[in-house]
Amino acid sequence: MDVICCEQCGKLFNSMGFFRLCPVCTERDEKDFSMIKEYLSEHPLAKIFDVANDLSIPIKQIKRYLKESRLEIIEQNNRFLLCEDCGKPIRTGRYCDECYRKHHRYLNTYYVGNTSKKYPSRINFTSNNKETIASPR
Ligand SMILES: [Zn+2]
Ligand SMILES: [Zn+2]
Repeated sequence: MDVICCEQCGKLFNSMGFFRLCPVCTERDEKDFSMIKEYLSEHPLAKIFDVANDLSIPIKQIKRYLKESRLEIIEQNNRFLLCEDCGKPIRTGRYCDECYRKHHRYLNTYYVGNTSKKYPSRINFTSNNKETIASPR
């Protein structure tokens, strides 16, 4: 067992392997995410900045959901989420398809067979809405 810093609150906790958040933050994280899902089912065309404002959830947190492939951006050229390797705009996860294949070449067969993957909730991104996050609450 490793003792690591919680990515959210900075508290030290015992991580069972890959957990990056302490139990308290994990629970809040799940609640926030189901709030986003609910919001998106009521507002199917909601924008990232609307979600952040209306639910008081930091953009950073929404970005993490995107990187974890729990959310997906509808626009292809969003400039919000970029491939960590080549910097191309991506819609979900951490790498574009090309870089993903490059990094996970040996996993190809596994991913071809893994078609039952659930579709992530989709979210809109519109860059000209940026000023809304700068305004005070
Ligand atoms: Zn925490
Ligand atoms: Zn890439």
